[in-house]
Amino acid sequence: MSDNSVIVVGAGPAGLAAACLLAQDGRRVRLVAREPGDASDPRTVALMMPSLRILENLGLWPGDLQAKTQPLRKLRLVDDTGAAMAAPTVTFDPAELGEEVFGWNFPLSLLIPALYRRALALGVEVTAADAAGAEPRSDSIVVITTEGERLAAQVAIAADGRNSVLREAAGIRTNRWSYEQAAIATSFAHSGPHDGVSTEYHKQAGPFTTVPMPGNRSSLVWMERPERAAGLMALPDRAFAAEVQIGTHGELGRISDLGPRRLFPMQGLLARDFARNRVILVGEAARVVPPIGAQGLNMSLRDAAGAAALMAGEDDPGNPALLASYDGRRRRDVQPRQQVIDLMNRSLLSGFLPLEAGRAAGISLLAGFAPLRRAAMQYGLASSRG
Ligand SMILES: Cc1cc2nc3c(=O)[nH]c(=O)nc-3n(C[C@H](O)[C@H](O)[C@H](O)COP(=O)(O)OP(=O)(O)OC[C@H]3O[C@@H](n4cnc5c(N)ncnc54)[C@H](O)[C@@H]3O)c2cc1C
Repeated sequence: MSDNSVIVVGAGPAGLAAACLLAQDGRRVRLVAREPGDASDPRTVALMMPSLRILENLGLWPGDLQAKTQPLRKLRLVDDTGAAMAAPTVTFDPAELGEEVFGWNFPLSLLIPALYRRALALGVEVTAADAAGAEPRSDSIVVITTEGERLAAQVAIAADGRNSVLREAAGIRTNRWSYEQAAIATSFAHSGPHDGVSTEYHKQAGPFTTVPMPGNRSSLVWMERPERAAGLMALPDRAFAAEVQIGTHGELGRISDLGPRRLFPMQGLLARDFARNRVILVGEAARVVPPIGAQGLNMSLRDAAGAAALMAGEDDPGNPALLASYDGRRRRDVQPRQQVIDLMNRSLLSGFLPLEAGRAAGISLLAGFAPLRRAAMQYGLASSRG
């Protein structure tokens, strides 16, 4: 049995960020994780300015990462549903908020190792195993690894993803649902410039989103019905590139040089408590949202920063009042955002006329009314939340 102030379970981006922030605050942190993330993950993540400030605080931004990432200069929403009541295209421009860029697009395969190296440099100790369970007590928690080691701490951070073992050990229940969709994540080269613009084409089976990368390259998140997505995954590169060409309407020029493809089944999840019994949930252990509006990891980094801020200076970082405060604060940020994303996604999938009309009317308002557009941008960037 060893004594730690905090045990973080899971070395995805959310867990690594939490481990770094807590170690930087002088906490004794142990990370329980077999390996840091997955270097072959083809996803990129669009991180907005508040997330970049967290990376900056950790000494990771701009640094070496900047040259391998791409600024996001504009975001476009294009109604590509072919519906009778199509919405006009909306372009979100950070200049309307007095900013130059919304954020930057990072390959996860670079961000995760950078966070891991930082965690080690900050003195985070690693137990290279999975968590098999945990025993919460009134004043401490014991995390049990798959190798049978028992590790004690004042509090444990559950960053072990959507099927969190720690969440279950804390007795936290979830609401789960699935969408009749899967997302293909990949990247591709194109002959035309992207000008730093990310485009979310709203199609009948969900968004098809291109996000600029350095050079004439973009990442793609393509949400489709599961059968069609499986068919697209099986296509040879040349045929898949032709489908991307159609999907982008040739706006990026000729498509070539596809990166690896990976399929993500679309689910939703919301934990009924974000913290309980000496366990604090961060990232996808707390909630899962479809990749619309680049909210997922941005929320996760706010989880990590929010937990670290509440724990700062606390003798007992797992005390019930602190956990209750975390639950309330994070729920106020996360739950309405999850509802907006869910509604946006379902309005595409439903084929239900009033819902389609509502979406088109909402987007038309955004296109035509600058104050509303600015408010939506501020909300999307979460510039004032903690
Ligand atoms: C296609 C796609 C595109 C996306 N694009 C964006 C975007 O542009 N912007 C954005 O903000 N978000 C985006 N997201 C969301 C973002 O990628 C996720 O929110 C984020 O990766 C989740 O990080 P996490 O650390 O919570 O979970 P995970 O990445 O799932 O990490 C959990 C970690 O815990 C480990 N683990 C699991 N069980 C155990 C155990 N028992 N013991 C120890 N370790 C364990 C796993 O191996 C893993 O390393 C996207 C998501 C998808 C699917």
